[in-house]
Formats: sequence, C-alpha cells, structure tokens
Amino acid sequence: ATPTAVMVATGVGANNGVLIKGGDSLERAQMVKYVIFDKTGTLTQGKSTVTAAKVFTGMERGQFLTLVASAEASSEHPLGKAILQYAHHFHFFDECSPTSGTKSDAGDFKSGWLYDVSDFSALPGRGVQCFIDGKRILVGNRKLLEENGIDISTEVENFVVELEESAKTGILVAYDDVLTGVLGIADPLKREASVVVEGLRKMGVVPVMVTGDNWRTAQAVAKEVGIEDVRAEVMPAGKADVVRSFQKDGSIVAMVGDGINDSPALAAADVGMAIGAGTDVAIEAANYVLMRDNLEDVITAIDLSKKTFFRIR
Ligand code: ADP
Ligand code: MG
Repeated sequence: ATPTAVMVATGVGANNGVLIKGGDSLERAQMVKYVIFDKTGTLTQGKSTVTAAKVFTGMERGQFLTLVASAEASSEHPLGKAILQYAHHFHFFDECSPTSGTKSDAGDFKSGWLYDVSDFSALPGRGVQCFIDGKRILVGNRKLLEENGIDISTEVENFVVELEESAKTGILVAYDDVLTGVLGIADPLKREASVVVEGLRKMGVVPVMVTGDNWRTAQAVAKEVGIEDVRAEVMPAGKADVVRSFQKDGSIVAMVGDGINDSPALAAADVGMAIGAGTDVAIEAANYVLMRDNLEDVITAIDLSKKTFFRIR
C-alpha cells in the first residue's frame, strides 16, 4: 500500500473510533489467524454484580459483608469494587440489591462504616489478604484458600460449583482461617460478543478466550459466546505465554484486552487491540485502541487492513 492509502485508512479508522498506531500493525491485521480475547471486561461488560452471598458459619450477614468489603476496600480489581458496592448497599439500606460496581466509584464507599485493616496485599490472579483486629481475612478463589491451608467443606464446594456452572465467579472468604462465606459474582457478556465471534469464524479467524478465572466459569462463558478454545486459570504473566504458543507455527495472532493484566499479552501479540475504556497501561501496550468499547471494531480493524492492503497489491 502507498503511504497515502495507509494515511487514508488511519483516518477512516479514527473516524470510527479505531485508533491505529503505525502502518505495520495496519498491515498485519489482515493476516490474523487467531484472535485471543480476554474474558473479564473484554468479552464481558466488566460490570461485575454480586448475585449471591452465603454465610456458612454463625456470623451475622451484615458483619460478614462489612468484613469482606473492608478487605476489598483497597483493591483495584473490578470484583473488589462489586463487593464493596453490594456491602455498602446492605449496610445503609439493610437489603441486598444487585447494583453493579464500576471502575470509578469505589472511592464513594470509604466513609466510616468499614473496619480498619492492616497489612493489605493484593495477590494477582488469586484475591486479597489483610488483617482486621489481628485476625487474617482472605478473599479470593480456591487457589488462594488452598495455598493458605483453609479447609473447604463439601457443602461450600458444592455451592461454588453451582455458581460456576451458571457462569458466575465464586469468591471464597476465610476469616481467622475459617471458611466463613461465599459470594457469587456475575458479569454479563457484551451485547455484540457472540455476533462478533461468529463473524470472525466466518472470516476464517479462530476465536480464543483467555482468563484468570476458574475453568468451570470460563467454560460456561465460552459456551455462551460460542468460543471453543478456552485457556483458564491463567496467571497474569501467563497471558503473554498463551499468545506466544499460538505464534509458534508462524501464525499471526491478535490479542484483545482491557486490563493491566493484559498488557504483556497485548505487547507480545502481532496485533494488540486495547479496549478504549480499559486501563492506560493496556492502551500503551497495544497497536490498536478501540475507543468505542465495542467488539465489532475488532472486525472493523481487520476489514480496514484488508481493504487497504488487498486492493493495491
Ligand atoms: P481476569 O483474567 O478474569 O481479569 P484475574 O487474573 O484478575 O482475572 O483474577 C483471577 C481470579 O482471581 C478472579 O477470577 C478471582 O477469583 C480472583 N481474584 C482476583 N482479584 C480478586 C479480588 N480483589 N477479590 C477477590 N478475588 C479476586
Ligand atoms: Mg480484563
């Protein structure tokens, strides 16, 4: 393609909210064989909502929720924000409401009702840990609890499995090293997600999903969206390895993601596409920025590349 054609395509992209950083990535997009989607915030809306909260000990519900919210108050994770919003609502209105957490509203909830926590740590791909009144609280997935030697009863395990089979993420809570309760969190698919997956397949592109979430939830979401190839329980650093594994035979790989988690994978991909509503780090690592937070623009980007480079050859 001539420099003029590249410039025109870049302009057409920009008008559609598809920002292209450089002619090389514009050229590579037409050759994409695999599109690897991050799950949370990319295929899903990233608006996590607590849909269930079950206490398995004698602890009072309000206290349980306040403990969990206090532990998550310093978390940057969308799951933490959803929990905080749910507990906040319960605290002030004494009822459970399926309101969703968004990326910006956590600050609104830190006013007086939470317990003081010490030694907070966020454990990527696992959850959070901190201490309240000298007692340890762990909030996260099975892996987190298992690594800390917390016993998970059959009753708890069954409840978590039930959540996961309906595409929800089960978050386990241990207080003072006893499994105290479980939260179920839903994050619906973006409206256009299945249509885009189907569209890619028709173009001969293989859609793949990668996530840090557990296998059962991942499979349930993948089934809903129509993706067959799933990589789950991938630690944040592992997403780039997944990209490389698809590149091994020389295939051109696109990665679509939104989170800090995704930036190494976006950088490793031949074509990195950041969702514009995502984090700055992801946007920096990507070749494309999809400003409209609409997955149809993955197809727009590939089409634009095809039109620019096929015609003039
Ligand atoms: P994703 O690829 O879906 O963005 P992450 O790597 O961020 O996943 O997280 C993987 C899993 O770790 C989550 O599904 C959740 O079970 C657990 N987790 C991570 N952060 C938190 C948190 N702040 N609170 C509870 N659980 C968490
Ligand atoms: Mg994400």
